[in-house]
Amino acid sequence: MLYIDPDACVDCGACVRACPVGAIYPDTQLPAEQLPFIEINKSYYPKRPEGVKLPPTSKLAPILPAAEVHRRGRHPLTVAIVGSGPAAMYAADELLTQPGVLVNVFEKLPTPYGLVRAGVAPDHQRTKLVTRLFDEISRRRGFNFFLNVEVGKHLSHADLLEYHHAVLYASGALHDRRLEIDGMDLAGTGTATELVGWYNGHPDFADQPVDLSHERVVIVGNGNVALDVARILTSDPDKLAGTDIADHALAVLRDSRVQEVVIAARRGPVDSAFTLPELVGLTQTADVVLDAEDHARVRNDLATVRDDFTRQKLEILAKLGSVDSASAQPTRPRIRFAYQLTPARVIGENRAAAVEFTVTGTDEVRRLDAGLVLTSIGYHGTPIADLPFDDAAGVVPNEGGRVIDPATGQPVPGAYVSGWIKRGTNGFIGTNKSDSLKTIQGLVADYNAGQLSEPIGGPRAVARMVHARQPEVIDAAGWKAIDSAEIARGDAQDRPRVKFTRVPDMLEQVEDYSDVPLLQNLLGALRRR
Ligand code: NAP
Repeated sequence: MLYIDPDACVDCGACVRACPVGAIYPDTQLPAEQLPFIEINKSYYPKRPEGVKLPPTSKLAPILPAAEVHRRGRHPLTVAIVGSGPAAMYAADELLTQPGVLVNVFEKLPTPYGLVRAGVAPDHQRTKLVTRLFDEISRRRGFNFFLNVEVGKHLSHADLLEYHHAVLYASGALHDRRLEIDGMDLAGTGTATELVGWYNGHPDFADQPVDLSHERVVIVGNGNVALDVARILTSDPDKLAGTDIADHALAVLRDSRVQEVVIAARRGPVDSAFTLPELVGLTQTADVVLDAEDHARVRNDLATVRDDFTRQKLEILAKLGSVDSASAQPTRPRIRFAYQLTPARVIGENRAAAVEFTVTGTDEVRRLDAGLVLTSIGYHGTPIADLPFDDAAGVVPNEGGRVIDPATGQPVPGAYVSGWIKRGTNGFIGTNKSDSLKTIQGLVADYNAGQLSEPIGGPRAVARMVHARQPEVIDAAGWKAIDSAEIARGDAQDRPRVKFTRVPDMLEQVEDYSDVPLLQNLLGALRRR
């Protein structure tokens, strides 16, 4: 969410043109569903005397200087980045501002860009446009993709460190936190992350059994992921058909009999985990209701709330329709926010039939019938082989991105982190830009100070080593072949792309590509443009 001071802005429009995802509009051209942002933007800036420019306060994003590399040793600064999501790509971007630097990006899947491809909801195509920037970064001199290579399986940390000055892990937080209550092993239970992976065509989740032949879905937890999932489950499938949603998910959604998705939170409205922009987006596109008891809770919270953002969220909640007054014959499935519900157990014989909650802080039991119960209670980082791990926080212990050995309190030489595995699972795609920049500043300072060991070989040696360990490694041209094939499949159906959801199908595109003479490929690419 970007705030533009309506008084200081001179309307030059430079930011509108520069925004890589087209997310900035002149106020006169805001799409209807984004009009609430005019008031939200205005209320961000404190009232001050007319004509006085905004003072440089902490509200302004700090501009950090680029990390200047001072070449030393036989090889140019060579960095391995593990993972290819936003934190990885922003780190590469920062490193490649410096001449001569080499960046090798290692990714487990044959396709790059992490959660932008597999996490961002398919109805948020504009957010996915950030991949254009990532494509541009990946075309820079000094950048190399090593896709379909798993660090910890094909290569170890020690292997990477041998061939690079430093290894930066931007591998994210793959798994979600599990809810330890009875019944979560029944069929018809799962996690929001699994569903997100399923509808986004992540190969690990393509075969997920998702049954929507019942009337209600309950999602436990009310963060932004819960909102994404609820929105997709209640969206018009014909609209989703114009996105890059996985075909298998679209087919199940077309046959869905779900009428209501309940987003159940254990605390009250004032503690809702979703963010203001996501709530605005949801209420502008879906039918969202509250029951009378929760409307009363919202009113109570509004009477005491102090912070502006939370007040704005509560004001939106207060305007939502009521469960009871909603039309008896809803034309489309609705979403219901429910509060003060602590999950106790999932009930069912062979599969989930209901969730039992207690009203938080009491013994009162509430039961909600549901054929699908999803938990959406946050992600948790996965330990990285050969690096220390803080299991409670779900992160690799670090100071400003330098990995720290908790036993000695000293940095682990050559090891760095960025993104969710560094700071925990919070923030937006853009949060990773400043986060990665700070890590890179530390890394470059260590390099300039001579604290990083020289790699044993240059770029060709790295490529030889990786090919020996994983012959099916995919480079930038291979990814381009997969990308182009997906886009071509999408063209035929007027969609941005139709994803391959199985690794062998992706590999087949790469093989086809390398079998065809270069000229033919170029002609194909030109035709597709
Ligand atoms: P989240 O924002 O941390 O929300 C987790 C939810 O789970 C909270 O409501 C929390 O309630 C609840 N919870 C935790 N433990 C629980 C338990 N034992 N029983 C019941 N409820 C429990 O997590 P998230 O939705 O997975 O999002 C992760 C991050 O990704 C966030 O920073 C989010 O903003 C970001 N994200 C952003 C977007 C976007 O910008 N469009 C989309 C998706 C994700 P309490 O508050 O009571 O603990």
